[in-house]
Amino acid sequence: MKQFDINALLRDNIRKMKPYSSARDEYTGEAKIFIDANENPFGAADQSKYNRYPDPYQLRLKEKISAIKNVAVEQLFLGNGSDEAIDLLFKAFCYPYKDNVIITPPTYGMYQVSAETNGAGVVEVPLTPDFHLLVEDILKKDTPENKIVFVCSPNNPSGNDLNSNAIERLLAEFNGIVVVDEAYVDFANRPSWIERLDDFSNLVVLQTLSKAWGMANLRLGMMFASREIIAVMNKIKLPYNLNGLVQDVVANILDKGAEKERMVNEILTERQRLFDALSLHKSVLHIYPSDANFLLVKFTDPKNIYTYLLHNGIVVRNRSSQLHCEGCLRITIGTKNENDLLIKALNEY
Ligand SMILES: *Cc1c(COP(=O)(O)O)cnc(C)c1O
Repeated sequence: MKQFDINALLRDNIRKMKPYSSARDEYTGEAKIFIDANENPFGAADQSKYNRYPDPYQLRLKEKISAIKNVAVEQLFLGNGSDEAIDLLFKAFCYPYKDNVIITPPTYGMYQVSAETNGAGVVEVPLTPDFHLLVEDILKKDTPENKIVFVCSPNNPSGNDLNSNAIERLLAEFNGIVVVDEAYVDFANRPSWIERLDDFSNLVVLQTLSKAWGMANLRLGMMFASREIIAVMNKIKLPYNLNGLVQDVVANILDKGAEKERMVNEILTERQRLFDALSLHKSVLHIYPSDANFLLVKFTDPKNIYTYLLHNGIVVRNRSSQLHCEGCLRITIGTKNENDLLIKALNEY
């Protein structure tokens, strides 16, 4: 197994910086009176308890997630959505106007956006037309400036899981960070890459509570990686990146794992049902196999279908402009009733 020198990959300024030290970081022991952080001692104006700064390292919440995912707390970073974790990776590893990341279009749009806001270059190594990784082509771009490869599996917008052997080879041979974005892993029939963290010190796994767990509004993204990488994330994040209200609400919802499983199973059943119904439709040219909670569907006349559905109060995502997605609409699996209304509308088209 290859051991990475994370320090050699990090930006110098990040390696050298001292993190912000909050008032509560600077004492140890028991205390009853907290007059160290310039908070209001009475409470919020409605007497609620939000007067105190939240735990910057979200330990209570992390302990719950750690138990669910079977990963040490020190290998877990929580952010304001996966988007925050993605942004921090750029801050940690990419010198503006010098370093790049590798992405594999068609893929999730935030890698490119985050690269642009951080002044990093983007090197594109497209997926094949049936959405598979070209590992050889990525490895040809393995240079010191190409710091991070982002692979999204199951992939958005295509919906398929990327080949595990291909990802494994990338992890073993690429001399930089390999990010596997598993936003949709709960809908795929395979173990998470989290289980391989001890095998690859350059592996970063992203997951989110926005999809299967139904908490998109609460903004909670999870990053799993080596202790060294997580320590860097904790050092450079904003001190109070998750507010206390969200930490409490999420911790309570995480006790409802059985209900989450039930919803996932229903979505999987509906995914198959929608797949079968759409296959019979005359304006459907192809439905791509999906390991996610959506279907990528190629239509004969996508623009007209999109507008027609919108007139019927149904909004889908037009992905026609993405590489290899000509003519494609991306349809999220809804409730049974919502899917019935979609099928009915299409049948009346
Ligand atoms: C939806 C999605 C996410 C989740 O982002 P959050 O910021 O956690 O809501 C991450 N990656 C991909 C590929 C997604 O489609």
